[in-house]
Amino acid sequence: MSAPPLTGLDDLFRRTLPELGTDWQPVAVPSPELVVINEPLAREIGLDPDQLRSADGIAVLAGNSVPDGSSPIAMGYAGHQFGGYSPRLGDGRALLLGELIAADGARLDVHLKGSGRTPYARGGDGKAALGPMLREYVIAEAMHALGIPTARALAVVGTGERIARAEGPVPGGVLTRVATSHIRVGTFEYAARIAAEQASATTTAADGADGKDGADADGLGVAEAANASVLNRLARHSIDRHYPAAADAENPFVAFLDAVIDAQASLIVKWMNVGFIHGVMNTDNMTISGETIDYGPCAFMDSFSPSTVFSSIDHQGRYAFGNQPPIGLWNLTRLAETLIPLIDADDDEAAIEIAKERLETYSERFSHHWMGGMRDKLGLGESSDDESIGDGALFTGLLQVMETDGADFTNTFRALATSLRGNEADLEAQLPSAAERDAWVANWRRRLDTEGRDLSQVATAMDRVNPLYVPRNHLVEEALAAAELGMFQPFEELLERTTNPYEEVPGADRFTQPAPEDFTDGYQTFCGT
Ligand code: AMP
Ligand code: MG
Repeated sequence: MSAPPLTGLDDLFRRTLPELGTDWQPVAVPSPELVVINEPLAREIGLDPDQLRSADGIAVLAGNSVPDGSSPIAMGYAGHQFGGYSPRLGDGRALLLGELIAADGARLDVHLKGSGRTPYARGGDGKAALGPMLREYVIAEAMHALGIPTARALAVVGTGERIARAEGPVPGGVLTRVATSHIRVGTFEYAARIAAEQASATTTAADGADGKDGADADGLGVAEAANASVLNRLARHSIDRHYPAAADAENPFVAFLDAVIDAQASLIVKWMNVGFIHGVMNTDNMTISGETIDYGPCAFMDSFSPSTVFSSIDHQGRYAFGNQPPIGLWNLTRLAETLIPLIDADDDEAAIEIAKERLETYSERFSHHWMGGMRDKLGLGESSDDESIGDGALFTGLLQVMETDGADFTNTFRALATSLRGNEADLEAQLPSAAERDAWVANWRRRLDTEGRDLSQVATAMDRVNPLYVPRNHLVEEALAAAELGMFQPFEELLERTTNPYEEVPGADRFTQPAPEDFTDGYQTFCGT
């Protein structure tokens, strides 16, 4: 008999921030079966894959038992969803089992999704369908392989029950995921409201008691009272966990805001560098760590067009591919608003000015990351602002031709590298507008010449950053449809290819083909609720 898995999880978040969660237990499922387990990740974080595969392990991954010593919580958070504020969302069907301390000292949330109703479930059934959990698994792992910060997928179990969804009864699943934290912009929105309510309750009570200024009623000054607030504790916890250097700054909360702005600008650039559309960038789905979470209606774009949207509920294109940068700033502005009382407890106006200044750095940071990413994709070493062959001209020029020609986002960058090796056919197929293509290629070549590098080395460097295999929508759907029928091979194959995204494998051509047009025309992604 193997020892029980996942024992000894810590509960620092729960102890530090009791207001931001509710102690809760998972709901047992009838007959759990392991569908997929991430052995490399398990080993990396110090877990024994065999232990996880054992009956005891599967029971934990299904929510049928709780690891020894663990005190699970459903985390509370608020959120702006499609721009509208919801004061109380929270883990409606998920639980934080606790925090695992990895060998290198990293603190990692272990989180179940699909583990039954919680006090935050509102009208939901607390369950998750197997298909969307496998979707989250494969996309998260593909993102990780692409070097994009993300919550990782540790395992998916089938629950053995069928659950009711719009399309009819579907098999249920539970996903175990691991992230540096699940603290969201929405967590700050939730804490800010609780802190504000507590502050006004204190003031009112104190006013009633002695008729004097409430803030000094218990002997604490205004600043000390703010220090004790849940918002303050959340910010300090987040700083310790994610941006410890900010603690030494003159104003740690401004440094924290700065760090989150940079992490999110960098993250969104990384998404866009691979044609990824998150699909539901609500503030409750945006982490302060800068990791991608909550893979719902996300998708990789085939044909390049900034207005691409797949999500069935995104009627206005709010979360379209090309709208992700301004939405990132919009969400960060919601975060900044929550930090105002921390930035300067005595002077709102001054705090707002400081926050505004920090937010104004977003677009510059974004372009800095974007330009760097595009230089890597095009094999360029140094930045240049030359009018015809500089970064701006080249990048905009290429995207224009790609959009006009409906070029496949992924394959075009590989074709560019192939063209440097003397084979132009793939590039011609992606960009059939010959005059525009040739003019652009001439500029790009001129730029490469000025850097004086060996073209075959440039091509090799490009192939190391431009993936060949991404989880294309039609392949994801095909794999999930098979999995729902109990056939897991297509899923495993897709996972194998997309977690080794750069290396060409003979006979894997179908993983590089865009979806047939009739598939893409009607393709919609769903939140998987
Ligand atoms: P999501 O779209 O997965 O980011 O979820 C948005 C909110 O809805 C979160 O508060 C979830 O916990 C909640 N939610 C989604 N699906 C369910 C469900 N089936 N049961 C309960 N809550 C859910
Ligand atoms: Mg969510």
